[in-house]
Amino acid sequence: MAIRTKLVAGNWKMNGLLDDGTALAHRLRERATAAGATLGCELLVCPPATLLSTVGGVLADSGIALGGQNCHGAPKGAFTGDISAEMLADVGCSYVILGHSERRQGHGETDAVVRGKIAGAWRAGLVAILCVGETHAQRQAGEAVEIVSSQLGGSIPDAADAATLVVAYEPVWAIGTGLTATIEDIAAMHAEIRSRIPSGTRILYGGSVNPKNADAILALSDVDGALVGGASLSADDFWAIAQNCPAG
Ligand code: PEP
Repeated sequence: MAIRTKLVAGNWKMNGLLDDGTALAHRLRERATAAGATLGCELLVCPPATLLSTVGGVLADSGIALGGQNCHGAPKGAFTGDISAEMLADVGCSYVILGHSERRQGHGETDAVVRGKIAGAWRAGLVAILCVGETHAQRQAGEAVEIVSSQLGGSIPDAADAATLVVAYEPVWAIGTGLTATIEDIAAMHAEIRSRIPSGTRILYGGSVNPKNADAILALSDVDGALVGGASLSADDFWAIAQNCPAG
C-alpha cells in the first residue's frame, strides 16, 4: 500500500497585502529551513492570487509548495476576473483548492462546475484539493454522509487517481467558527470518504484546526493532513499544527 504522506495546507483566503503576506512567507521559510527533514509532512500555502508570485519567490526551494484557492475550468478566454489553472501553474503553483464551501455558497458553484475545474487543474498539471462537507442543518438531519457522497460523486472526474487528487472534508459549520467536528465524527466521515475515492488518495480535515486540536485530529489513521484557514495566517500556529506530523 502506498504511503500517504501527510499534507498540511494553509488557505489564506482573502487575507494579505504585499507587506504582511511577504513577511508571513519569510517566517515560514525560516522555520522550514531550520527544520530540515524533521517535519513528517508536506507543507502548502495558498495565498490570494495577488500574492502568488511574490510568496512563490520567497518560498522557492524551501520545500513549501504553492497553491491557488480557485481556478476556472477553461485554459484561457473571455472570463473577466477569472484565473485559469495554466496561469496558476505558470506562477509556480502545484496545487489548487477547488469546491471550497465559501465558493459553493458565495459563488453558486455546483458539483458540475467543480468537476470542470478539477479537469482544468489536471490539464495544467496541478493537484486538485476537492473540498466537501455538510451544513449544520444537514448534519442535524442525519444527511451528512449522503451529502458528502453526492458531492464526491458529482465533483470527481472519472480519471481521478491518488497522485492528482486530495479530498478535504470540511464541515461547513466548522469553518471559521471555532467549532470542530468530534474525533469520532471525523474518523467516521473519513472512513466513508475513503470507501468512495481511489485507493491511496489523501483526505485532509478542515474546520477550525488549531495548535490545540491538531494533535488528536492528525493522529487519526484516516486523516492525512489538515486544511487550515485562520490559523495559517500565523506562522507560529501553522508551524505548531504541522509539528503534529513527526518524521517517520
Ligand atoms: C478553510 O478555509 O478551509 C478552513 C478550514 O478555515 P478555518 O481553519 O478558519 O476554519
